[in-house]
Amino acid sequence: MVSEVGGGVQSRERHAVVVGGSIAGLLAARVLADHAERVTVVERDRPSEADSRRSGAPQSRHTHVLLEGGQSALEAVLPGFMAELRAAGAPRVGMPEHMVQWQNGGWYRRTAATTHLHTGTRAQLERLVRQRVLEHSAIDAVQGTEVVGLVGDADRVRGVQLRGRDEGPRAEPRTLRADLVVDATGRGTKAGRWLTGIGAEPPHEEIIDSGLAYATRVYRDTESRLGTTALGYYMVPNPRQTLGAVVLPIEDGTYLATLSGLRGDEPPTDGEDFEAYAKRLPHPIVYDWMRASEPLSPVVGFRRTANVRRRYDLPGRRPAGFLATGDALCTFNPIYGQGMTVAAQNAVALREALTDPRRTPGTRRVQRALLDSSRLAWDISAGADKQMPGVWGNALGTPAAARPAGWYLARVQQRAGTDPVIGRAFRAVLGLNAPVTALFAPEVARRVLFTPVRPGADRPPLESEAAGGS
Ligand SMILES: Cc1cc2nc3c(=O)[nH]c(=O)nc-3n(C[C@H](O)[C@H](O)[C@H](O)COP(=O)(O)OP(=O)(O)OC[C@H]3O[C@@H](n4cnc5c(N)ncnc54)[C@H](O)[C@@H]3O)c2cc1C
Repeated sequence: MVSEVGGGVQSRERHAVVVGGSIAGLLAARVLADHAERVTVVERDRPSEADSRRSGAPQSRHTHVLLEGGQSALEAVLPGFMAELRAAGAPRVGMPEHMVQWQNGGWYRRTAATTHLHTGTRAQLERLVRQRVLEHSAIDAVQGTEVVGLVGDADRVRGVQLRGRDEGPRAEPRTLRADLVVDATGRGTKAGRWLTGIGAEPPHEEIIDSGLAYATRVYRDTESRLGTTALGYYMVPNPRQTLGAVVLPIEDGTYLATLSGLRGDEPPTDGEDFEAYAKRLPHPIVYDWMRASEPLSPVVGFRRTANVRRRYDLPGRRPAGFLATGDALCTFNPIYGQGMTVAAQNAVALREALTDPRRTPGTRRVQRALLDSSRLAWDISAGADKQMPGVWGNALGTPAAARPAGWYLARVQQRAGTDPVIGRAFRAVLGLNAPVTALFAPEVARRVLFTPVRPGADRPPLESEAAGGS
């Protein structure tokens, strides 16, 4: 249900307000609808009107993958969702079978797929989530309306202050009362300021910024180099080779090509320069593909890619009735493709925390459960980014206890491209579908510890090794 905002909510029913009607906010709203009489999702944009180019989600124009952990979490919150996504044409890419992938100085073997990514556009995924969530009769969407502050005090949040976007910044904000307010406003969240505004403390922010920049362009694969035995290209940066590329199909049969590089050497947004940048990758396969394909859009850039974790779990004067989820809680370097998956896993964690019969779902406890469900993704992206040259931040230290694990993980990475057993475990963890302990299972550990590194092929594998091809 979509409506215009009226005055404050007057009734005594339990009311939750979710600020931000994107993927994390919508999924949180669906979970809360089982616990509150009314849930209102307040969104600054009018997403139904301008799907892919709305200003609140500028990342929509860049390549997005939905990892396997996100697929099962979405399915848990919205049963049948993955079938709907497939029916809407979102391509499904088997890893490592369907991807021509360069990593750590060599090409991955294209053995049978052990995990799948969905590679349709983020805008389509968000639209389908919105449709499903807003079908719920207890959920009301208020669009074109911005939350500008909280109502309440340092002990308890009692609502939000909001203002219609067309009313102008000087208009007096109105109050929307709520028993629970959830911040799902994404990486640009102003919750710290809102909390200060009611006399509470903002969360400590851990920041790890590799300075990675994205640039993306839409292409038509006029020569059909992709689409049969291989569905995409992936060149993964590392501390010695910091340029990256990914080319993936989207639902309308075209491809998104994204190039990435670090601060000071960002991929250009001029079309010719963008393609010339691809020539500097360790192999010309992506450059050759671009030159043989037809560009269908200008190049768009994105630079705000720092990992930021807001530590609401640490002591501080914070009110009951306020939670953060999705990117507003924990933002990741997008190169690891985790944000939508974690938004869905946060929603599952919210549901579990609210229905746990052993514990009262106090604000701090629920918030900690959400943070816990972001932890694996944080460990992967922050852990890898700490190794990048020029990384900046206030959370760069590695505890001494974690150093042996770092040594072991380096051995995993060196072998994942050519050893199918290690590769399977590695992909399950990177897909946020298995805990890190999967890498220490006896069969995997034996190979990690006792087998020599076999170098990857020095030429891109254009055919799948899996029985029956792809
Ligand atoms: C370049 C890039 C590439 C990415 N690639 C991937 C990928 O491959 N895979 C993946 O899983 N994730 C990826 N992500 C992350 C992914 O886009 C997000 O994690 C995902 O959109 C979920 O975010 P969210 O719902 O928490 O916030 P967002 O999607 O950022 O949404 C926040 C919403 O809040 C609204 N809002 C903001 N302020 C207010 C306010 N004051 N009042 C009301 N509404 C407000 C905004 O309009 C917006 O709709 C990528 C991100 C970037 C930047």
